[in-house]
Amino acid sequence: MKIIDKLQENKIHISFEIFPPKTDAGIEAVLSATEQIAKLAPAFISVTYGAGGGTSKNTVQIASDIQKKMGVTSLAHLTCASSTKEEVLSVVDRLKAEGIENILALRGDIPEGLEFPETDQYHYAYELIREIKKQGDFCIGAACYPEGHVENEHKEDDIAYLKQKVDCGVDFLTTQMFFDNAILYNFLYRIREKGITVPVLPGIMPVTNSRQMTRICKLSGTVLPQRFHAILDRFGEKPEAMKQAGIAYATDQIIDLIANGIDHIHIYSMNKPEVAAAIMTNLSEILR
Ligand code: FAD
Repeated sequence: MKIIDKLQENKIHISFEIFPPKTDAGIEAVLSATEQIAKLAPAFISVTYGAGGGTSKNTVQIASDIQKKMGVTSLAHLTCASSTKEEVLSVVDRLKAEGIENILALRGDIPEGLEFPETDQYHYAYELIREIKKQGDFCIGAACYPEGHVENEHKEDDIAYLKQKVDCGVDFLTTQMFFDNAILYNFLYRIREKGITVPVLPGIMPVTNSRQMTRICKLSGTVLPQRFHAILDRFGEKPEAMKQAGIAYATDQIIDLIANGIDHIHIYSMNKPEVAAAIMTNLSEILR
């Protein structure tokens, strides 16, 4: 089923994200974690696409297994910065052959040392989106950045480029993680004002590992509020306490979003079924 059709239903949708293993040896563990996440009956499960081909070959297979073996709609991520146009199109063909209707179309990060992608590549996500539209009847998602994309110093330009991207045929947007809902509300206000009207799925990251998170936030430019710093300071070195606090913080963010009328939420569950399950338990009455 197309995600955009699900989003039209009058109910709260929770979806999860998983990532493929770094090597083929890890595939069984990822499939087993995904199976447990699928049992939580999410609206869909998204599967990331590794830059540079490394983990990317498993994306299509895992997305296909989610639909055919686990009975849940899947969203396959696809990036273009590290591949030729021909390589990207061959992945689109495989997705079509597997009956995957939902693609999250991304540029991906530019590989280190490369000034800008070569000419036989798509330079930006909007070019990829235009191409996917020509290839079939896909439901297309794209990324957006409530705090602005890290490469773009000018937030207004970032929103203008986002509008250009959406106008190329994007059905819905998913946000980069954020830890202060006020940033999301402000972003929604600004993009709606610029005429971006597609559904926006806030991306919520339950933080269960403090070191990894500090590094990721630095790279992506995500602001960590003081309240979150206090949690990292107090529980960062105690993995089980950090996990509990991270789940509680994410739950709190989600409840606030739902209370403020946002009905679709995407959770960066990072192949951790126990984290996904704990959040669903915390929300059980809210989702009823
Ligand atoms: P674009 O929309 O192309 O934007 C990239 C930059 O170019 C921005 O700074 C934008 O302002 C600027 N820009 C856009 N259009 C123009 C233009 N016409 N002229 C000049 N500048 C322009 N990465 C992966 O490798 N695999 C994944 O699976 C993955 N999943 C993700 C999922 C989500 C929800 C998010 C938020 C990110 C994900 N990423 C993933 C990371 C993403 O690939 C990077 O953030 C990447 O740097 C930007 O991708 P994009 O599709 O947003 O790019």
